[in-house]
Amino acid sequence: MKVKEVLKEGKDLLSEISDAPMLEAEVLLSYLLNLDRAALVARSDEEVDNAVKEKFISLIAKRADGVPLYYILGKKEFMGIEFFINESVLIPRQETETLVEEALKLIGNKAVSVLDVGTGSGCILLSFLYYNKKSRGIGIDISSGAIEVARKNAELLGLSERAKFKEADFRAFRIDERFDIVLSNPPYVRTDEVKQLKGEPEVALSGGKDGLDVYPQLAQFIAEVLKENGTFIVEVDYRSARKVKGIFESAGFRFVKFLKDLSGRNRFIEGVKFEGTKFEGAK
Ligand code: GLN
Repeated sequence: MKVKEVLKEGKDLLSEISDAPMLEAEVLLSYLLNLDRAALVARSDEEVDNAVKEKFISLIAKRADGVPLYYILGKKEFMGIEFFINESVLIPRQETETLVEEALKLIGNKAVSVLDVGTGSGCILLSFLYYNKKSRGIGIDISSGAIEVARKNAELLGLSERAKFKEADFRAFRIDERFDIVLSNPPYVRTDEVKQLKGEPEVALSGGKDGLDVYPQLAQFIAEVLKENGTFIVEVDYRSARKVKGIFESAGFRFVKFLKDLSGRNRFIEGVKFEGTKFEGAK
């Protein structure tokens, strides 16, 4: 069978579950053939090995079963860096790049300490440290599977010296160190919307009924672990951005503001810790 025929077969099998079935079929076949998509398309009339075709159909079947494409590929690009991923972690989202870009802009090339709460694949902390060569940081996550993935990424990127990862629930986490900057993309999807996000870990996504469960304790925790004058940036559901801003303001943070994502929505809350920012301990 020719490349274009194999692709057509894959596309037809994905048409029910995907908005871009041809694109996904091309991505999967180019992955198996170790080509980029343009090179694959240029070879439309070449014959595909039977073994490759079978493998392709098995990947297509997985995808048709609802496994997200990037779990099948086992990798996702974020901030121009390739991250290893699996079912234990949220697939890094392009929108989250704005959080890292803002952090890099604020810090410039100063040497700082960074804490990433709910680090998942480690993509936030590791991309920050990849571009700011003088800093170091810690990523914590409640999921042991996530910590394994994050450590593997640190190793693959040669960042294991500057990036440490620890399995911990931030609500029970105690650390003496205070950080210059705290970053977090916590679970904020509303319960009734989690079901639509098939395949990714619920613990990384589910923010309770209104998606806000995590923020009051997160604000307390950040107030405790941030240095005076240190900055936090957290990701939010844009529909709840105002409420989350209020939560951080009531915890005593100052200069609390929205940052927009690439679609122009209030996707992040940033603020500064000042004397008086409450830290009653993470409850
Ligand atoms: N932005 C992600 C989504 O909507 C959610 C990420 C999260 O809960 N932190 O799929």
